[in-house]
Amino acid sequence: MTDDDLLQFADEAAPCGLPRKTLTWKVLIVDDDVDVHESTELGFAGIDVCGRPLEFLHAYSAAEARTLFAERPQIAVILLDVVMETQDAGLQLVDEIRNRYGMKETRIILRTGQPGYAPEIEAIRDYDINDYKNKSELSRNRLYAALTAAIRTYQQIHVINAGREGLAKIVRGSAELLHTDGLSEFAAGIIIQMSGLLGLEPEGLVCARQDNGFAPVVIAAAGRFQDSVSKPLEALEDATIRRLLLTALEGEDRIIEPGYGMALHFGGRDQRRLAAYIDAEPVSDSLDPGLLEVFCANVSVCLDNAALVHRLKTYSYQDTLLDLPNRRALIDRIDTWLHVRPSGHGWLAAIDIDHFGEINGALGHRIGDQLLQAVAARIGQACADATCIARIGGDCFGVMWSGKAADAEGLRASFDAPLEFGEHRMTVSCTVGLVSFDDVAGDGSEALENAFLALKQAKHNGRGSLVRFDPSMGAEIRDRVRLLANLREAFSEEKLYLAYQPQIELATGRCVGIEALLRWRGHDGELIPPDSFVPLAEQSGLIVPLGEWVIRRACTEAAALQARGHGDLRVAINVSLIQFRDPRFLDRLGEILDETGAPPHNIELEITESVAMGEPTRMIELFDRIKAMGLEIAIDDFGTGFSSLGHLQRMRVDRLKIDRNFVGELGQSGKGGDIAGLVCGLGGRIGVELIAEGIETPEQAALLAAMGCQIGQGFLYARPMPADEWHGWLTDHCARRRGD
Ligand code: C2E
Ligand code: MG
Ligand code: MG
Repeated sequence: MTDDDLLQFADEAAPCGLPRKTLTWKVLIVDDDVDVHESTELGFAGIDVCGRPLEFLHAYSAAEARTLFAERPQIAVILLDVVMETQDAGLQLVDEIRNRYGMKETRIILRTGQPGYAPEIEAIRDYDINDYKNKSELSRNRLYAALTAAIRTYQQIHVINAGREGLAKIVRGSAELLHTDGLSEFAAGIIIQMSGLLGLEPEGLVCARQDNGFAPVVIAAAGRFQDSVSKPLEALEDATIRRLLLTALEGEDRIIEPGYGMALHFGGRDQRRLAAYIDAEPVSDSLDPGLLEVFCANVSVCLDNAALVHRLKTYSYQDTLLDLPNRRALIDRIDTWLHVRPSGHGWLAAIDIDHFGEINGALGHRIGDQLLQAVAARIGQACADATCIARIGGDCFGVMWSGKAADAEGLRASFDAPLEFGEHRMTVSCTVGLVSFDDVAGDGSEALENAFLALKQAKHNGRGSLVRFDPSMGAEIRDRVRLLANLREAFSEEKLYLAYQPQIELATGRCVGIEALLRWRGHDGELIPPDSFVPLAEQSGLIVPLGEWVIRRACTEAAALQARGHGDLRVAINVSLIQFRDPRFLDRLGEILDETGAPPHNIELEITESVAMGEPTRMIELFDRIKAMGLEIAIDDFGTGFSSLGHLQRMRVDRLKIDRNFVGELGQSGKGGDIAGLVCGLGGRIGVELIAEGIETPEQAALLAAMGCQIGQGFLYARPMPADEWHGWLTDHCARRRGD
């Protein structure tokens, strides 16, 4: 048998099926002798080496070879002439191949026509040269043997490297697969990674089947299969690929179809099965089968994890009752809109179902759920063009659309027709807060906040109304938040203090008491009026500790006054509704009286008329207990609320304070003067003392005295003063009265 008999000729017939790439070994001939190129290529035409035909590349000089290397072809073997442009051009090129172009796997066979130019032993070792042959001793068959040995070595090195890279890719791939969004992206990731592992162009497809009987569907595809995405596997033209994928879906791990490609099975723990087909069979020994196993097992685990992540994402972005995006998902959608800011106007409406809590309470949660579903359906019909309809709260929906603001009005009007759900037919109304994205400076959560601000305002205006967000709404809220934060700080740093305003007996001019008024001097030294911060403290609950502090301070002052011989002076303290509602209020009050030693009969609690009359029955009881502790009670700002005489008589109050607005109008043409007169008459009839606040002129004082009012308080006598100043005032006042 001659050497030539060993040569095998590749089957010229193309494999059945679609056109596909044939794998070859690339062999580069670098030689300045054209004949060498021709004879080598001719000698190997149609011959397979290690299962693949050879593909020859040609370079006629070292310079040409460099140009070719720059394109980074996967060259298995280089047949390299030593003497070309220079005596050692070939040897120099070897250095570059290894070190400059980093082609470590490529095998090199040096050929030379001049025996004198053999490389040194060191060069052969250092540059990993496979063989050195004299051209004259290279017969066709010897060259075949040398090439086969080189290709086999190349293949082995390649497999080892591919295995190492493959493992690294699998590890990296796991992380990437986990970050994919949805099954089709995951499947596309499988194709890319499988191709990477096999060193092939991404060309293949992945299909999935649910175990609940649905026909398999192609969920990702690359290369020439791209058009198959989202189509049933049945629609795939190639029967062999269909068969391979179906068999893989049944659970067979790995099927290699000679002349075709390879199908792999990935089984996740959930109801889903995946199979992938790659359009090339791996060359038998170029891929470690163990590596494929690791890859498949890894993808299966990733599939489980991705399904888990997907479920978690669904839960955190989806409202499961109504199967709508939730608040978080809506914010994301708005963020995307704001990021891109497409032309045209974008709107967001927060829609609140009026009285849903009552309906839910009356009819039960099951019916409540049905109502919510009916509302969601109605919103869906009314806003067919909406970009996103989400459930953003228990009975609150968010709708985002681009178009006209008037659509919001249509949405609200769509609720005029009754809703039908279960056996129920019900008309519900909704209140709407609307915001234009043009009025949103920040992100999606700010847009939603603005919509809620508008909704709050709309609710304030009356159920069923619609309010569009105005940037001033946001500014107002932000100012209040800042003010409250500053107030907390001032309180904790003890920067608040009490001012005292004397109360004068109109008939004698004698000081009979003081009102304690809270003062706050801000960072810039300016006084911040209690009318602006007390309501804030009330809303935030800060008024409870703050009010307690006021009571303690005022009681300390009352005790000090008594100690200095002013045991007849009363100290009036303003108390808010929130303080009264605190169940520990009376206990704390008793403790403070004990601690400070303030005489209870010298302490008067002022409560505004609207509060006293807001919950009369409770207040009557509470006032009884306060009176039982020995304290006195005054109704502040009297005349501004709607007192019932009956309640007032049962309230056992000691004093009525005529509101300063009515005092200010005394002697003028307005009705205020009349009201002051009426209050004085009322006080006389039910036998309570009267205090007029806000007296600024002697005329007002005279008129009030004539009306029967006993006590006066106002700038005419003294402004509210800090403790030191008040003490000085009191000393002067007493001296004056003694006639010093
Ligand atoms: P109020 O209890 O009706 O207090 C009387 C208000 O009239 C005080 O305003 C006082 O400075 C002002 N005033 C007194 N005389 C005159 C006058 O001749 N002319 C005019 N134009 N005004 C006069 P202030 O101190 O600004 O307090 C406003 C309100 O803040 C108080 O009304 C009271 O409702 C609330 N407040 C003040 N301190 C406290 C407190 O410690 N606790 C609670 N809960 N509320 C307080
Ligand atoms: Mg008061
Ligand atoms: Mg008042």
